[in-house]
Amino acid sequence: MSEHLSGQAIGQTCTSWCHSCRRFTIHRVDRVAVGSHAGKPGPCLDPGHAPKPEVTKQQQRRRIEQRRREMNPLLFGHHL
Ligand SMILES: [Zn+2]
Repeated sequence: MSEHLSGQAIGQTCTSWCHSCRRFTIHRVDRVAVGSHAGKPGPCLDPGHAPKPEVTKQQQRRRIEQRRREMNPLLFGHHL
């Protein structure tokens, strides 16, 4: 994305393409860089916007792993 918005738009919203929603949605306008006076489309604010699936999967895996350790302390506690 190479869209640059004016600094006045920072903190407001703009319409931009969301790769997760696969359509144009409302995005928060973020500062391009600290000290910069230019804005760029930030996070998607669409209520239907789904969180990144890879993060969710990772969290799920971690939670399952954690539960396994709690249920089978002997399997994972042999190093003690
Ligand atoms: Zn989105």
